Amino acid sequence: MRILIAEDDEVLADGLCNSMRHLGYAVDCVNDGLAAKLILSGEQPFDLVILDLGLPKVDGFSVLRSLRENNRQVPVIILTARDAEGDRVKGLDLGADDYMIKPFSLPELEARVRALIRRGQCGVNPLYVCSALIFDSIERRATINGTPLELTTRELSVLEALILRTGKVVSKEQLIERVYSYSEEASNNAIEVYIHRLRKKVEPAGVTIRTVRGLGYIIENLAA
Ligand code: CA
Repeated sequence: MRILIAEDDEVLADGLCNSMRHLGYAVDCVNDGLAAKLILSGEQPFDLVILDLGLPKVDGFSVLRSLRENNRQVPVIILTARDAEGDRVKGLDLGADDYMIKPFSLPELEARVRALIRRGQCGVNPLYVCSALIFDSIERRATINGTPLELTTRELSVLEALILRTGKVVSKEQLIERVYSYSEEASNNAIEVYIHRLRKKVEPAGVTIRTVRGLGYIIENLAA
């Protein structure tokens, strides 16, 4: 779990960082809006953002606006001044998930952070689309052009592991972790068999499962 804190008040930023690290989160901290915008448009995904609205260079509103315009669904808690009700409303309208009025109690913020992260894990959009193949991560069901794909439990687990990381390599070890419980005997050969069967099943959807030698497998849209 990775959290970004954007706050220009050094003492507050330090307190927030320590408190979030104490909760076991990986924390990145920036002290102006431009840095926040840059890091949020990068490759590193965040599970939550704590965003001060009054930031130097670029204010929190425009950080939030560009985040949502880029369709990033990461939960955001905004920090606002006590006398700025209009700011809170504007922040929520721009897609903030929650707000804290300064000065606030850290335990309350921690509780809200936990709640938002829990909510985020349930997934805003449960559907993963790869060409004509759609995987519903809540129902754990795959369809091709609306027709349910017949999969064994193991094949389903392999497909799930791959499609949740579409475009990224998934190692054999990661697949074994997904497919087998701790008490079961795992084998690399069996994974190859599941991949082989799965390939045949997803190919009609224009989807391929490519072997990346020595690294693992990657699910891809054939047409892309
Ligand atoms: Ca500030």
